Amino acid sequence: MEEIVKALKEANGILVVGHIMPDGDDISSVLTMYTALKRLGKEVIPAIDWKIPWIFEELEDVKEIVNYDGFVKSSFSPDLMLIVDSSAPDRIGRFAELIGKIKTAVVDHHQTHRKFTDYSWVDPTFGACAQMVLRILEKLEVSHDEKLATLNLMGILTDTGFLQYPNADIRAYKDATKLVEKGGKPYVISRMILENKKLEQFKLFAEVLEKMKIEANGLLVYSYITQDMYEKYNCTSDDSSGFVSELRSIRGVEVAVMFMEIEPKHIHVSMRSKEWFDLAEFARSIGGGGHKRAAGASIKGKSTQEVINMVVPELIEKLEQEVSVK
Ligand code: 5GP
Ligand code: MN
Repeated sequence: MEEIVKALKEANGILVVGHIMPDGDDISSVLTMYTALKRLGKEVIPAIDWKIPWIFEELEDVKEIVNYDGFVKSSFSPDLMLIVDSSAPDRIGRFAELIGKIKTAVVDHHQTHRKFTDYSWVDPTFGACAQMVLRILEKLEVSHDEKLATLNLMGILTDTGFLQYPNADIRAYKDATKLVEKGGKPYVISRMILENKKLEQFKLFAEVLEKMKIEANGLLVYSYITQDMYEKYNCTSDDSSGFVSELRSIRGVEVAVMFMEIEPKHIHVSMRSKEWFDLAEFARSIGGGGHKRAAGASIKGKSTQEVINMVVPELIEKLEQEVSVK
């Protein structure tokens, strides 16, 4: 962390990059770093090489975030690329092309992280990358006002399921409390994320429930969304990112999986476990990554059914193996 803080202090132009298919922790980490570094007088561009999910559009600074084309057009030449919440180069989209060309640093909390930058601070004991960002801001002596505290808090709340998942430890509660003391507004975040659903999402979810399958004596539940289904309900993958945790909430389920055809023949596999199944390792074995209780992979060139046939039997076998050992 010290090395990254030093590199941030020394740099004048900083490109802050988050991961593709951004979630709340990612957008929080990008925008919190962006706002803080700008306040220190740096020239900063926040960047994510993906369309920002519509629920985050009401955040004031979200429109500042550029994709790779926007970055190229800006003619900005940064001294440092600070990457947040990303475990591998393929997670940052086309910004990976800058690795080896400019100085790079990463702040990440993924168990499956593989070193790919000049400087890295990786600590999977943090529930959210935003907690690591909070510590960097403290080292940089940037004080939080209401806006910055709310932005920073969003990452902690979203990656811990609003302080409900096992990664919501004492440190996460203390960090959240600290940000609330500084003016952070949890209800602004919960209203934006939890109480903002479109009716079409419920209709799509109803079909997801109809298609749902239960395996391994009730330990595994999965369902899928094809391109046709997204079109039928006028939805995109932004609208279905929360479905997998709904499936996990079923009594007795240990692992929930959603197979989502986010583009033709591009299947995003989104996985959640409840108490004991290690999904990080499993996700890595199918070319993805993540955390113990939340992991994913993106598989191109196969149909939804082909990916289901590849993943489900293996998961059933692993679950049954673990149960027999227990
Ligand atoms: P989600 O299911 O919400 O898309 O992702 C859950 C977790 O798995 C996140 O922490 C995310 O970073 C990670 N993850 C999802 N998809 C991929 C992937 O394709 N590659 C890697 N390395 N990690 C992924
Ligand atoms: Mn995260």
